[in-house]
Amino acid sequence: MEELSEIDVISLLKDSGLRVTPQRIAVLTFMDSHREHSTADEIYLSLKQEFPSLSAATVYNTLRAFIEAGIVKELRNGDHASRFDINTSSHHHLVCVQCGLMTDVELPEVPLEKIGREHHFEVSDYHVEIKGVCSACSGNESVVH
Ligand SMILES: [Zn+2]
Ligand SMILES: [Zn+2]
Repeated sequence: MEELSEIDVISLLKDSGLRVTPQRIAVLTFMDSHREHSTADEIYLSLKQEFPSLSAATVYNTLRAFIEAGIVKELRNGDHASRFDINTSSHHHLVCVQCGLMTDVELPEVPLEKIGREHHFEVSDYHVEIKGVCSACSGNESVVH
């Protein structure tokens, strides 16, 4: 997905019925340019330097408002802190069981209609998590994330 410009961030807020505040613009812009499913703390710590008046509570409340407006998805992550995904379309994740890193992954399409028919089940959504150990944790690659 293409990066949104600041103007698009503002119209996304407006279109979602959200009040446009500098904090909301900052959080949304950060999430758009850091698509690694940040935690609330990561977002807060990254924005704190630029916005000294920003509190952790504001970041949490902002994320709640985004989730309610449907422009951000919360990804619960076992014992790790929840991560937040600006990509709200149906997609899947690789999940590192050691550091909690979540990476988007493309999977072949699942025949949801056929499965629904066979089980008399109305499928509304699905999400696949492939668990394992990321390269930074396994030491297979000297990439720091
Ligand atoms: Zn890891
Ligand atoms: Zn994702």
